[in-house]
Amino acid sequence: MISRRTLVAGGGAALAAIGAVTAGEYALQQRRDSETPAPPATDANGHLLWRNWSGSQSAYPAARAAPASEDELANLLKSAATPVRAVGAGHSFTALVPTEGTLVSLDQLSGIVSHDDGKLQSTIRAGTRLGALGPALADIGQEMLTLPDINKQALGGALATGTHGTGQTLQAIHGAVQSFRLVTAKGDIVEASRDANTEIFQAARVGLGAFGILTAVTLQNRVLTRIRKRVYALPTHDALDAWPTLKAQHRNAELYILPFTGMTAVIIGDATTDKVVPRGPDSDVDTLLDLKALRDWLAVLPPLRRYIARKAIETTPPTDAVDDGWKLLSNERPVRFNEMEYHLPAEAQPQASLEILQAVEANRPDVFFPFELRSIAPDDAYLSPFYNRASGSIAVHAYYRNDYSFLFEIVEPILRRHGGRPHWGKLNSLVARDFAALYPRWKDAVQVRQTLDPDGKLLNPYLRKVFFDA
Ligand SMILES: Cc1cc2nc3c(=O)[nH]c(=O)nc-3n(C[C@H](O)[C@H](O)[C@H](O)COP(=O)(O)OP(=O)(O)OC[C@H]3O[C@@H](n4cnc5c(N)ncnc54)[C@H](O)[C@@H]3O)c2cc1C
Repeated sequence: MISRRTLVAGGGAALAAIGAVTAGEYALQQRRDSETPAPPATDANGHLLWRNWSGSQSAYPAARAAPASEDELANLLKSAATPVRAVGAGHSFTALVPTEGTLVSLDQLSGIVSHDDGKLQSTIRAGTRLGALGPALADIGQEMLTLPDINKQALGGALATGTHGTGQTLQAIHGAVQSFRLVTAKGDIVEASRDANTEIFQAARVGLGAFGILTAVTLQNRVLTRIRKRVYALPTHDALDAWPTLKAQHRNAELYILPFTGMTAVIIGDATTDKVVPRGPDSDVDTLLDLKALRDWLAVLPPLRRYIARKAIETTPPTDAVDDGWKLLSNERPVRFNEMEYHLPAEAQPQASLEILQAVEANRPDVFFPFELRSIAPDDAYLSPFYNRASGSIAVHAYYRNDYSFLFEIVEPILRRHGGRPHWGKLNSLVARDFAALYPRWKDAVQVRQTLDPDGKLLNPYLRKVFFDA
């Protein structure tokens, strides 16, 4: 969004004029960008390293498997070294996947199994990546009801953490699940829906990979639709004032609050039959790098940092694109980050985001990544962060080479005070007793989990904290 020429020229001129950024300060900024060295590629036993997308989680699984059939997976689960952890695309920030036991990839179980044109439903293998699913569904005239910001996730991984997109009337992805097939820790194959094994359906639909491993899922889709996507900038206070209207008027709406700029990017999407206007080259990476450059140069001079950023952003024209939803709703995110996201009662979202903005701007001038605000409709899965409540999410990101302690020290207390439930795949410090207080059906879910996996074969140390505080 920021025109690079404006920014570089503005920043350079300002620096030359005031000479305010000393060599020492510049060096400090560089140190803040230090990256923890990667763990060794193998451990003492020769086991290969596994790492998540951001690099913050790692493990050396003793065994790895990629079963090519449900029966193979069922046999594997009967005898595999524990803990057994399923992995999708490794895009979660929490320690859901790490295991010293067996890591199971569903990559060989992918693709559409069958579809129903009348009901607009499809049965999809759980290892299918969302990015591959978009064009495959388009071939049969369908599309998913909602899509997240990226499409790298495996369907099973996305469901397990309550992955969502944005839209006041749109539930998270698991809201579209009609039925699923699950292989339990004992190697049993269970089919669950609202009519069969209902408790398992409700408890394991958002299951953290702790109830069993999903092999196939039937999703309610809709007819393939074109959308018009518009991106434009507003002063942050105007954007937050407009947010209730934006959410109500557009099928998809989200805000990216840009800290230390006074500005917010507004992204809206609506169904259309207009002719295709393909999305142009993505400017998100340039914008991020420009915001980072401003941070590097002017972290010590917030008013100047804000002035230059605002000038650059407010003179950038809106962008429009028209295309099939699966081509426009998800994005590439090559600049890695760590992230915390909580889902709040919808009415608490604007005030909580203002409090976070003020606290971050007062305490952490090194932050430059945007805060993302989205809306999600309620559903009834027991471990859904959107259980029985219309939600507004707030996601705060930290560049992967920067310290992200502020997420826990500054951001999380605000999100918790406003009644937030954390995204299962994103950083948080909660343990079982906290979840028990936040989820009305927590005990029911724990009981179903215990019945399906009495020996805790699927529990790694992180999940033991989630389910037992231990
Ligand atoms: C750049 C980026 C952008 C993101 N954008 C969004 C967004 O817009 N919206 C959002 O809600 N989230 C978002 N996320 C979070 C992401 O969607 C979730 O963390 C999701 O779980 C990642 O899917 P994955 O396939 O990588 O799963 P993994 O991280 O590999 O695994 C996540 C969980 O799923 C379990 N699992 C995997 N496969 C199965 C299976 N077949 N059966 C049972 N359990 C299984 C694993 O055991 C684990 O518990 C984003 C993450 C990143 C890194």
